[in-house]
Amino acid sequence: MYRKHMTDEKNCKFKQMMWQNAHTGVCVEQLYPEVDSIEIHYIRDHSSAFGSSHRDDVWKVTPQSEACFIIECLNPECSTIGFDLGSVISSAIHYHKTEVSGEMDCEGQEAPDHPEQSCDGHVEYTIKIVYK
Ligand SMILES: [Zn+2]
Repeated sequence: MYRKHMTDEKNCKFKQMMWQNAHTGVCVEQLYPEVDSIEIHYIRDHSSAFGSSHRDDVWKVTPQSEACFIIECLNPECSTIGFDLGSVISSAIHYHKTEVSGEMDCEGQEAPDHPEQSCDGHVEYTIKIVYK
């Protein structure tokens, strides 16, 4: 995604708007009634001129969780909210897969005032789905 130069404040507002749009207000059991649980193991990396960061997390999704599968980019100044696993999960459930893994590069910019530099954020994920 390419955007023009933005101030931090504008970037922050833009990200809030993206989060609001991302929220479905629908829970997992409404969308995927056959799903009992989803476990998302994910490893995030980001490096910039200021150093690098690395995080390893597990996200447990229950039928009552909101069907919003966005993992935040580790770059706090990133111009996008992060990695949307929504379509990966929906297609995995469609094909009744119990495990799916992959990786994604962040599509944001490094910082709101660096529109020419793309964000280095990266995620590696393994999604485990248990059906009823
Ligand atoms: Zn990013």
